[in-house]
Amino acid sequence: PLTIGVLALQGAYDVHAKALTSLGAVPRLVRRPEELEGLDGLILPGGESTTILKFLERDNFFEALDAFVKETPTFGTCAGCILLAKDVNHPAQKSFAALDIAVERNAYGRQNDSKILFEPTTLAGGPLEMVFIRAPRINRVGADVEVLAEREEHPALVRSGHLLAATFHPELGSDVRVHQLFLDMVREHKDGRG
Ligand code: GLN
Repeated sequence: PLTIGVLALQGAYDVHAKALTSLGAVPRLVRRPEELEGLDGLILPGGESTTILKFLERDNFFEALDAFVKETPTFGTCAGCILLAKDVNHPAQKSFAALDIAVERNAYGRQNDSKILFEPTTLAGGPLEMVFIRAPRINRVGADVEVLAEREEHPALVRSGHLLAATFHPELGSDVRVHQLFLDMVREHKDGRG
């Protein structure tokens, strides 16, 4: 089976681990840089990206993750999407800049800061439940970024090569199609390398 890390410094990591288990993968909660060793893929969960970054300042964890996400399949959800993004605004913040998108943090204001939508996507199986919590908005995607789902005409689920990012929380709710997609990407990457 595939071993998938879930960064477990802060935020919604436990529910990701459950989704992975339900799909036959082995989750590993990652709290130290050496726990990245041997992973087939990694999930950067939602939470508070500023807080997660603060934890990453210790033990050269930021540098270790920076190198990891550039080589190994990684799925960023919400705060995790912000950490992967090339450009971060509102306010600007350090990131791995691995995924060629621009995000605006907390872009929906107080009134709309949590919202559940059912929207069509490029995934088979009908509309997808998307749970947004103090979500960022993707305002720009690079030419090699594929848009798989949208919220109000802005990309909400995107893929570029070995990287996947969602501005919502696919681990909340019972639909595991986005996690399945990520596991398929991880398998593809692993087989591709032989
Ligand atoms: N607002 C958070 C941030 O800017 C993200 C919210 C979330 O992950 N649900 O990091």
